[in-house]
Amino acid sequence: MPPSRFRPGLSRPNAPPGEVAWFAFHGDELLVRAVGGNDRFDVPIAADLADLGLRVVRAQPLGELDGRSCRSAELAPGSPAPAGHAYVSLRRLHGRIDPELFDLAGTAYQVQHWDRAHQYCAACGAELETGLDERVKRCARCASSYFPRITPATIVLVEDGPRILMTRQARFPAGMYGLVAGFVEPGETLEGCVAREVHEETGVDIGDIAYFGSQPWPFPHQIMVGFTARYAGGELRVDTRELEDARWFHRDALPTLPPPLSIARKLIDAWLARPAR
Ligand SMILES: [Zn+2]
Repeated sequence: MPPSRFRPGLSRPNAPPGEVAWFAFHGDELLVRAVGGNDRFDVPIAADLADLGLRVVRAQPLGELDGRSCRSAELAPGSPAPAGHAYVSLRRLHGRIDPELFDLAGTAYQVQHWDRAHQYCAACGAELETGLDERVKRCARCASSYFPRITPATIVLVEDGPRILMTRQARFPAGMYGLVAGFVEPGETLEGCVAREVHEETGVDIGDIAYFGSQPWPFPHQIMVGFTARYAGGELRVDTRELEDARWFHRDALPTLPPPLSIARKLIDAWLARPAR
């Protein structure tokens, strides 16, 4: 992987005053600047969003991208997008903006959501203070702390020689199959989650569970942790409460795959790039 151009950070005391890259949300949609008129977007850069006629309710530092300060912001409800700008959902933004900006937009979405949802202490009702040295809100009265919520989920490519186990949910686009995925339960290891989800959804038992990689998934605050595994036994049977279908697919006859950039697709592409065994 190339080094990230982004350096996370909460403050930049020595930074010269200047233009900021804004990741500003109006509800769940990001304020973007149209570029080139071809459904391509950028984020607005300005010293202050008031320069664009917008009112910021609250903002948080994110860090620096290519040496430029980045901030998340929540815009006042009902603020019309300035000329040449639009509000776009993160899902629609995917593939229409620099991938590094897309990743940062996901980070900003989670940060502004956390900032908005934690104004007051849930334990005692006092107003919370934002930590200066780490991403936390603290209650000065009762010492409660509130970190951004991140929910882990696992996804796994199960292989059996030249074929892999693929599943289909009713909400998927026609003909598309993905991989077994599910949320981690309290007290569970990631590997335990992988084995449980595969067994629950398909009846299949697996072994050789190995870490592959991870991907933040800000819809709204997940992290997908990817694994590979091998078939170890069991007859395929589909849990129709969770899935529309599950099947073994041969590497020469795969169905429509999940979109590029998804961790499901990266797992499948990495498997296809290895010789069959
Ligand atoms: Zn409190």
